[in-house]
Amino acid sequence: MSQPVYDPYEEAKKQLRKAIDLLGYSDEIYEILAVPDRVLQVKVPVKMDDGTTKVFIGWRSQHNNALGPYKGGVRYHPNVTKNEVIALSMWMTWKNSLAGLPYGGGKGGIKVDPRKLSKRELEQLSRNFFHAISEIVGIDKDIPAPDVYTDPQTMAWYMDEYSRYVGYQAFGVVTGKPLILGGLYTRVISTGLGTALTAKLAAEKVWGTVEGKTVAIQGYGNVGYYAAKFLYEWGAKIVAVSDSKGGIYKTEGLDPEDVMRVKRETGSVINYPGVQRVSNEEILELEVDILVPAALENVITMENVERIKAKVISEGANGPTTPEADEVLAKKDVVVVPDILANAGGVIMSHIEWVNNRMGGWITEEEAKNKLIEKMTNNFNAVWDFWNKIGRDKPMRDAAYGLAVKRVVEAMKLRGWI
Ligand code: GLU
Repeated sequence: MSQPVYDPYEEAKKQLRKAIDLLGYSDEIYEILAVPDRVLQVKVPVKMDDGTTKVFIGWRSQHNNALGPYKGGVRYHPNVTKNEVIALSMWMTWKNSLAGLPYGGGKGGIKVDPRKLSKRELEQLSRNFFHAISEIVGIDKDIPAPDVYTDPQTMAWYMDEYSRYVGYQAFGVVTGKPLILGGLYTRVISTGLGTALTAKLAAEKVWGTVEGKTVAIQGYGNVGYYAAKFLYEWGAKIVAVSDSKGGIYKTEGLDPEDVMRVKRETGSVINYPGVQRVSNEEILELEVDILVPAALENVITMENVERIKAKVISEGANGPTTPEADEVLAKKDVVVVPDILANAGGVIMSHIEWVNNRMGGWITEEEAKNKLIEKMTNNFNAVWDFWNKIGRDKPMRDAAYGLAVKRVVEAMKLRGWI
């Protein structure tokens, strides 16, 4: 039998359905939340360095803005689809709600392999995309940020393009900007820090400490690298990491900074000397205590769930676990800290950056980092407590969704939408 085609939007709707049932809400509420408010598809032509013109397709999905302006990143990836962007925007609604931020959910994406473009081509792609969506974004409307294969430089181009379009300096229209343009260094490390922190908090619940626990991390971009770095600093042992080219495994443990140096110099972690090679599938099934999927969606599925040995999973990526696999892990007593909790550090820091930009403030990196740690710890504890109430035989995600969806529905009721 052939594998059913994975559609992240279908998975996102299944998760919503469960939350609606848990909260005892009507089908009508499900129907309202299952469909995004708006999805804009745009054509993004780029004049390539060789003189030809290539056309790329991009989307911005605005899922729900009951709690505030739409908020969420933009990803550049060859496999981006419209339904993926819609799912990601829905996940942002829950993530922002659960974090207690005054934001709704949005997400963008361009179907492109940015590694194949020159810097000039990337700049044109980014400017043309943002220009094409400029009507629907805005400081109090929709605030994009980095995601897979986009970074502070991308945000600088977006901000500049939008500022030209509106005729004033609109620093608050995007977050995750370079420091000199109102960004915060802490925004760069924040998603990884938050994912590491929720792994540590979960480890403390399970074993009393994270010290000495073995960790495997799938994905060594911004999220995976900083998650590794903080867990290492807190005494965990990073035994395996991977990137899009493959993975490495060393039972004695790896120094994350050293691995990053090799990745920067050679293009991949796989060139690290004196280690065993593992594939991106194998890394998930290693004999480790903690697993951090920090790459893309749909990696923990019914196909491999029985072979997963970690007792704590902290989802740095968005949507790495399918709802069915999540149920299996819950029955096996595995603590899966769901994406909308585990990787919320990025958007929490985005909010701090946005507030700072809007009031012309000068928050320090130290203050920003402390606020993030405090907020993530409180959020983790709130979800943990609610999880114990609804029953630990259910996935922790059910508790997180319960809290998140309830807040959005209450805002919609207060606003008179339902
Ligand atoms: N792209 C990140 C996420 O998936 C951050 C979004 C933001 O900072 O707005 O949560």
